[in-house]
Amino acid sequence: MEPTIFDLILNKEIPADIVFENDDVLGFKDVNPQAPIHVLFIPKVRIATHNDLDASNIDYMSKIHLAINEYAAQIGEAANGYRIVMNCNENGQQTVFHIHMHFLAGRKMEWPPG
Ligand code: AMP
Repeated sequence: MEPTIFDLILNKEIPADIVFENDDVLGFKDVNPQAPIHVLFIPKVRIATHNDLDASNIDYMSKIHLAINEYAAQIGEAANGYRIVMNCNENGQQTVFHIHMHFLAGRKMEWPPG
């Protein structure tokens, strides 16, 4: 699998505005924010798309969700609420092939999404 820009961020080869880190998950600000708070949560292992989740790596999804809960509470946005989104492949508009959960907060989101 080709490395992605997120591998470079994980290896600290390019800078990112890291706001969360534990043994399994990294969270950093999206360079093109779609909300006042827009953070990407990624596993510290390469899983290209949602389709590549299986019994061997699904625990990373739990870890990402728990990381998001911890971060939302830490920044005081848990009660206000937020949106979490994962895009998959072409129709989902996925552009970086290392799974990531978008965490969007700080304003009321539109629904339904476009
Ligand atoms: P997706 O379209 O779901 O694959 O989302 C990829 C996201 O990565 C986009 O929202 C981009 O703005 C964001 N992105 C791309 N490169 C970087 C980077 N170097 N640092 C932070 N965010 C990035």
